[in-house]
Amino acid sequence: MNPQPLAGKHAVVTGGGRGIGAAIAAELAQAGARLTLMGRNRSGLEARAQQMNAEVHIETCDVTNSEEVQRAFGAAQKALGPITILVNNAGQAESQPFSKTDLGLWQRMLSVNLTGTFLCTQAALPGMLEAGWGRIVNIASTAGLKGYPYVSAYSAAKHGVVGLTRSLALELARQNITVNAVCPGFSETELLEASIASIVQKTGRTPAEARAELARHNPQGRLVEPTEVAQAVLWLCLPGSAALTGQAIAVAGGEVM
Ligand code: NDP
Repeated sequence: MNPQPLAGKHAVVTGGGRGIGAAIAAELAQAGARLTLMGRNRSGLEARAQQMNAEVHIETCDVTNSEEVQRAFGAAQKALGPITILVNNAGQAESQPFSKTDLGLWQRMLSVNLTGTFLCTQAALPGMLEAGWGRIVNIASTAGLKGYPYVSAYSAAKHGVVGLTRSLALELARQNITVNAVCPGFSETELLEASIASIVQKTGRTPAEARAELARHNPQGRLVEPTEVAQAVLWLCLPGSAALTGQAIAVAGGEVM
């Protein structure tokens, strides 16, 4: 087996400074890819890049801002060459009952989770078409495949990511570019810690009770590890995964969608 199947490829991971994005960056780097990590917080990106034993470039960028996205992708391409792997991982999750979901929350969830994916894909795709090869992996969620109470805006945005994935995959099916979604269940990251804090604050449960409640969604009775999500992403990025496109793959311990 080739230990570096992605050698020579330039991969961009949005939200690559921590959590699932950092785990994805580590997997892709280990497979030989050159990495650009994007996010809003430069010091977080710098700290992560220093920990990685690979060629890593960083670009600060808010994925909801089309000008910043265009600039960041242009600078990344200048630094490390044509981008042929894009992992749209940057995301946020806010919860509220629907009756308290105001237009601001609705728009924040759509902007970062769905429009961010759209903008970054538009920025990266011309280079992939020119290279005649590409891999796009969108980090959606099990909330992109089924509903959960109190996250209607987040779930609508993630369902949108899955719809975008399926349509674009068909448009690009003959261009040697695959487009897939990976849909994690509740995973051990800062985003999950924030969800637990919100449950604690709204329901009076203890953090341990809130954590156990989230883990109960997973038939394996546990939270998913970021590296488990990252390994699914790596598999989709491999040259041999060319026939895998338009899929939305749950990494959720068997949770039924
Ligand atoms: P974290 O909160 O740990 O990390 C989120 C990352 O996204 C950070 O690196 C953050 O960087 C970046 N980010 C957030 N907003 C923006 C923005 N506007 N522009 C650019 N970057 C941004 O979350 P996770 O690692 O848990 O989440 C990663 C993805 O996985 C998300 O899409 C999330 O919806 C999805 N997911 C997570 C699950 C979980 O249980 N953890 C379950 C299902 C899906 P910075 O702050 O520097 O901008």
